[in-house]
Amino acid sequence: MSRKREEAEVEAEEAEEPEELEEEEVVEKKVKPKKPKPEKKKTERKIFRNYKISDEGLTRLRPFCERCGPGYFMADHGNRYACGHCGLTLYKQNEQ
Ligand SMILES: [Zn+2]
Repeated sequence: MSRKREEAEVEAEEAEEPEELEEEEVVEKKVKPKKPKPEKKKTERKIFRNYKISDEGLTRLRPFCERCGPGYFMADHGNRYACGHCGLTLYKQNEQ
């Protein structure tokens, strides 16, 4: 019985050290709470929405504005294209 008790005590002493380390880690985590950062989603740069790069080359997914000229893409609103620069709206003829 006595031997078992001694062994148990020794085991308890040995076991104390790693437990303390674990507690320190927990304390550090508590001291440094994770601030809720706004999730930075790696989104494609907006300009690349307008192009599709394939093996053949680069194709434009949206038309340029007729008034503003090349460089001004028109937004795709489903049944129509709209220019955010001048407000020109072109309805898609295929839909109608
Ligand atoms: Zn325009």
